[in-house]
Amino acid sequence: MAAVDMRLMALNIFGRLENIAKSRNVTLKVKPDELTEVWVKADADRMEQVMLNLIENAIKYGNEGGKVTVQFSEGKKYMEVAVRDTGPGIPHEHLNRIFERFYRVDKSRSKDIGGTGLGLAIVKHILNAHDTKIAVMSKPDKGTTFSFKLEKAFTSAHSEQSEEDFVTQVNS
Ligand code: ATP
Ligand code: MG
Repeated sequence: MAAVDMRLMALNIFGRLENIAKSRNVTLKVKPDELTEVWVKADADRMEQVMLNLIENAIKYGNEGGKVTVQFSEGKKYMEVAVRDTGPGIPHEHLNRIFERFYRVDKSRSKDIGGTGLGLAIVKHILNAHDTKIAVMSKPDKGTTFSFKLEKAFTSAHSEQSEEDFVTQVNS
């Protein structure tokens, strides 16, 4: 599998979704926000479908005037990618079902928004093909986070010391 810079991919997708984000007054952010490349092993086209769906969902189903963040956390072998919004959240009883084909939470609202309900089923399928899984966490009125891990394309150039510092920081 190819080496893909996930940070650059996220920024490109932000560009493609700029108009819909503006129309909902949603701020788009990548974290950490310094210029760091985030290289993982992935199929670039398929991973772009994953990120496009997750970011588009976060903008469409998040709150107006809210924030959408793509956050990267680096471990020794894996990079964790999280897409988070500050929206209304997904009710607990729907959380498992949103990955089913054609499943949509709020049918009347979803109809106005458009879409088919296939996005997350495709996301799950693509991540399975990358030997990984999608996780979702949601809190009513606080927001939703979708996350997954991908193998890093290169071993980190950090010294052992700085890698440990980083892990401590992430866990705290
Ligand atoms: P498509 O992706 O095919 O255009 P869709 O966005 O409705 O259509 P999915 O991406 O599979 O389909 O999402 C399924 C449903 O899960 C959505 O209709 C929405 O109800 C809910 N959902 C997805 N992401 C979020 C989110 N970030 N916050 C709240 N609800 C969400
Ligand atoms: Mg979708």
